[in-house]
Amino acid sequence: MSYKNFPMVSRVIFGRGSFNQINDVLAPKRLNSKAPFIFLIDDVFKNNSWLTSRIQLSYDDRIIFISSKEEPKTEQVDELAEEIILTSKERPSGIIGIGGGTLLDLAKAVSIMITNDGEAKDYQGWDLVKNPAIFHVGIPTISGTGAEVSRTTVLTGPSKKLGINSDYTPFDQVILDSELTKDVPKNQWFYTGMDCFIHCIESLTGTYLNTFSESYGNMALDLCKQVFLEDHLSMEEAQEKLMMASWHGGMSIVYSQVGIAHAMSYGLSYVLGTKHGIGNCIVFNHLEEFYPDGVKLFKQMKEKHCIALPEGICSDLSDRELNTMLHIALGLEPLWENALGKNWKKIMTPEKLKALYLKM
Ligand code: NAD
Ligand code: ZN
Repeated sequence: MSYKNFPMVSRVIFGRGSFNQINDVLAPKRLNSKAPFIFLIDDVFKNNSWLTSRIQLSYDDRIIFISSKEEPKTEQVDELAEEIILTSKERPSGIIGIGGGTLLDLAKAVSIMITNDGEAKDYQGWDLVKNPAIFHVGIPTISGTGAEVSRTTVLTGPSKKLGINSDYTPFDQVILDSELTKDVPKNQWFYTGMDCFIHCIESLTGTYLNTFSESYGNMALDLCKQVFLEDHLSMEEAQEKLMMASWHGGMSIVYSQVGIAHAMSYGLSYVLGTKHGIGNCIVFNHLEEFYPDGVKLFKQMKEKHCIALPEGICSDLSDRELNTMLHIALGLEPLWENALGKNWKKIMTPEKLKALYLKM
C-alpha cells in the first residue's frame, strides 16, 4: 500500500470584509512592473463597484470579466491563456479568480496553461501536468463546490468532461470573505449549497472512506444541516457556515471521491449543458436506492426552501444522446467504485443507468 501525498492550499484568509486586504496580499507576489496580475471575474460583478473598486490595478494589471453562463471549456482556457500570454510583456505575476466554481476553475486552469505546452485537453486526467502553474488566487463569491480547496479544475473538452487533477492545481492563496456571497440568488444558493451536501453524502457513504475524509465530511454535513434545516442562524452566520461547509466538503473528497450523483450529473452536463449544482440536485433527488438517508434529508431541505426541480429532462433524448450520456457517466470509474465497490459494473449496468436517467 502506498499512500498519496496531497498538496493543500498554502495560505488562506477567513473573515467578513477580508476582501479589503486583496492588494496587500498581492503586493509581495508581484514579480516586477512588467509582470501583471490578471483578475478573472464573473461578469455578474461587471458594474458592481462595491466589489471592483477595492481592486487597485497597477502597471499592466487587468480585469477580464467572464460569463459563467456556461461551465469552463478546454478551448476557452486555451484562448484565455493565449490572450494573456500575448498581451503581457512578461509572464504574469499571478491569476486571481473571483466568482463561483466556474471562475475558480478557470483561474486554476489558466494558471496551469500559462506554464505548460499544448492544450488544456491534454491535461484532463490525473497527474499529467508537468510544470508548476503560476501563482494563483481563489476568491469564492458563492459557496458549495469546494473548488476553492480542491486539487482539480473541471473542464469540458472535445471528448470528455474531466478535471485536471494535479499537484499544481490547488490555489496558492484563498480569500474567504462571506460578505461576497450576500447577493447570490436564492435558487442558485440552494443548488450550489447542495453540491456541498452531496459531496458529504457521497464521501461519507463511499467505499474509499477513511478517517481523514470522514472527519471533514462530518463537519461539513453538520454545517449544511444547520444552514439548510435549522432556523436559528442569522444571515451572516449562515453565509459563514456555508462557506466553511464548502471548504470542509472539498477537503473531504481530497482523500476520497464523489459518487453516483456526480457521475450522472457529468453525463447530463456533457449532453444537455446542465450546470453542476442544479444537475446534481436533479439526479440526487432520484437516488434514494443508493443514498436513502441523504436523499431523505435532501427532500426535506428542498421542501423547506420551496425549490422546484425540472422533471423529464431526458425524455426527449435520442438514443445516440442517451448513449453518449451513459458513456460519459460510466467512464468515471473511480466515482462508481467509490460508490458501489470493486464490483460496481455488476450493479450499475448500462441498462440500469439508462432507466435511472429516464426517470429524471
Ligand atoms: P457558478 O460559478 O457557475 O455560478 C453560478 C451562478 O451564480 C452564476 O450565474 C454566477 O454569475 C452567480 N453568482 C456567483 N456569485 C454570485 C454573487 N456573489 N452574487 C450574485 N450571483 C453570483 O456556480 P458554482 O455552482 O459555484 O460552480 C459550478 C462549477 O464548479 C461547475 O463548472 C463545476 O464543474 C465546478 N466544480 C468544480 C469543483 C472543483 O473541485 N474544481 C467542484 C465542484 C464543482
Ligand atoms: Zn460537485
